[in-house]
Amino acid sequence: MSTAPNPHYPRLFEPLRIGGITLRNRAVMGSMHTGLEDRYWDTDKLAAYYAERARGGVGLIITGGFAPTRTGLLLPFAGKLTNSVDVHRHSRLTKAVHKEGGKIAIQLIHAGRYGYTPLKVAAGSEPSPIHPFKHFKMTEQMIWHVIRSFGQGAKLARKSGYDAIELMGGEGYLINQFLCPHTNDRTDKWGGSTENRQRFLVEIIKEVRKQVPRDFPVILRQSIADFVRKGQTWDEIALMARKAEEFGVDAINTDIGWHEAGIPTIVTSVPRAAFVKFTERLRDEVSIPLIASNRINTPEVAEEILERGRVDAVSMARPLLADPEFVNKAMTGRGDEINTCIGCNQACLDHAFVGKKVSCLLNARAGRETVLTLGATRRAKHIAVIGAGPAGLAAAVSTAQRGHRVELFEGSEKIGGQFSIAARIPGKEEFNETVRYFTRQLEINNVTVHLNKRVTAEELIEGTDGGKFDEVIVATGVTPRVPKIDGVDHPMVMSYADAVLGHREIGKRVAVIGAGGIGFDVTEFLTVDESPTLNLKEWEQEWGVSEDLTKPGFVTKPRPLPATRTVYLVQRKPGRQGKTLGKTTGWVHRATVKMKGVEQISGARYDKIDDAGLHLSFDDPDTPSRILEVDNVVICAGQESVRDLVDPLTVAGVTTHVIGGADLAAELDAKRAIRQGTEVAASIN
Ligand code: NAP
Ligand code: SF4
Repeated sequence: MSTAPNPHYPRLFEPLRIGGITLRNRAVMGSMHTGLEDRYWDTDKLAAYYAERARGGVGLIITGGFAPTRTGLLLPFAGKLTNSVDVHRHSRLTKAVHKEGGKIAIQLIHAGRYGYTPLKVAAGSEPSPIHPFKHFKMTEQMIWHVIRSFGQGAKLARKSGYDAIELMGGEGYLINQFLCPHTNDRTDKWGGSTENRQRFLVEIIKEVRKQVPRDFPVILRQSIADFVRKGQTWDEIALMARKAEEFGVDAINTDIGWHEAGIPTIVTSVPRAAFVKFTERLRDEVSIPLIASNRINTPEVAEEILERGRVDAVSMARPLLADPEFVNKAMTGRGDEINTCIGCNQACLDHAFVGKKVSCLLNARAGRETVLTLGATRRAKHIAVIGAGPAGLAAAVSTAQRGHRVELFEGSEKIGGQFSIAARIPGKEEFNETVRYFTRQLEINNVTVHLNKRVTAEELIEGTDGGKFDEVIVATGVTPRVPKIDGVDHPMVMSYADAVLGHREIGKRVAVIGAGGIGFDVTEFLTVDESPTLNLKEWEQEWGVSEDLTKPGFVTKPRPLPATRTVYLVQRKPGRQGKTLGKTTGWVHRATVKMKGVEQISGARYDKIDDAGLHLSFDDPDTPSRILEVDNVVICAGQESVRDLVDPLTVAGVTTHVIGGADLAAELDAKRAIRQGTEVAASIN
């Protein structure tokens, strides 16, 4: 191993010692439950998923959570490590990672009241707001059983070949439930005083240390900001960290926020590295390595954090899902080739929380490494891709990566499609990274790009200077739907694209028609002056992150910035708006719209639009008709597919693939678009 500093990110590529092992760099792939942990028949898929990331150069992989005892399962039949049969299965994971030169730690988790199972147990009586099942409050005997199971789990982890273990002590899982009065209402020696609430974790650490040699690394995932009202104070967190070090923890991987917290901690609108200051504070308390996490998604951000010298490593789970080659690319100065995680959660956490297998919106291969392969083609073909939105870009790049000769046609002056619109929404600036990524990938994979070129079917049938096309991929996307409303052609009416792209002046009073994903986005856009650069201070005020370290959980009253416009968000369906938004992001959008004072109107009929504004009536006889006196109406009523090329090409006998919004406009989403683009590329032989 070279000892010279890496010329690009010298701190990130310094080795790091944790207990008895040395990591090759300071990039840690944080724990992320993929769903592949839960069934033995998925073991090879999980091994391939980890192996690909180990090959990508990461210093340490931490697995998704595995329970050390059945009462701690995340859901029925979830991943566990409790016996020698499990050891056999886990050995296959560790061998796959070691073969690629990587290191892997297992996360031992007890879900407590967060378990999606009727057999769950927890510290106190407070029910879980995120799962339906009731739990049993633990008896003294149960408590000692769980403590011993963590020790047993550590022993079995070592036997399975793991390089380290991580004890999950954050995010509101069982250990965290004992630590906080929010969930620990016990009156025995495991509740009440700080010492009593910390006893459970202290005993676990002691037990684990008894079961594994001193040089076997034990990492603690410690919650250092609970963001729940009766969470820990800073003094308690600092004391717990000191005790962890004293009783034999070798590193602290800092964790932010419970799943039930009212402050977002991972979505794209959270400023990058927003919580690193909490990790840095811990530096004054302990001397063991500290790992920072949450919204660290580029090597630049990682390097900047490490350079300040108060944090020893950075944890990046989703960024490694999005790009398994992240670390190698950074190491070799190819940071601009990284497919940067945009914090959308659409294919990772939104899947995890509804029991679906995790993947990545940007990287359809994530979690499907063994089934979606992009090997070199044996016969290079000449391929046309029409449309440079997410579907077309994914198709063009993946097809070219396989060795085909690709020409990409785009009618507008730049690539990106719906992503370029999304990037202008406040808090969605990360989407620019995807456009940057594809721009670079088109370059390095020698895709011929024709911008401002509305290619015709005749031209495609005829071919270009490069010859006739063997196959054509139609990714012409969508056009905003124009609903049939009397007066929809009034000058005050505009499409969401025109509104967001700044093509039209927008007045101070606006009605938004359609409360789907885009309706919410546009509403947020309209309540601020212009798409702001992410400002941590304002963001903390808006969401109520307290500066006062004596405040339990660091939660305070939110102080949102006032809306810059009066906005009405209207839909035809009765009931609550935003039901179709993502599981882990929808609540943030709903809360944002609420905090900006937007009036949300459901069950409306659009009677007409005229100089007076938008005329609404309602099926509900108790709701009187009304006129929304607005300067503008922005239409966010879904989309329709653009498929003009499909029929002529098919009739001419051209092998034609239709993907993304052109294939299906309903429920259009970038996740499906990119997956279809990748799959079509994999299928062209
Ligand atoms: P959408 O979510 O399907 O919403 C379209 C809205 O338009 C519906 O709420 C519907 O509500 C209304 N509508 C449909 N036909 C209409 C008509 N003829 N007249 C008036 N209103 C009509 O579609 P979208 O907002 O365009 O978003 C597209 C996709 O992008 C979504 O599926 C989502 O996956 C993705 N996206 C998600 C987010 C996010 O999660 N934050 C953000 C942006 C985009 P009513 O029928 O009740 O009026
Ligand atoms: Fe990141 Fe979105 Fe991919 Fe999840 S789905 S890893 S948040 S880009």
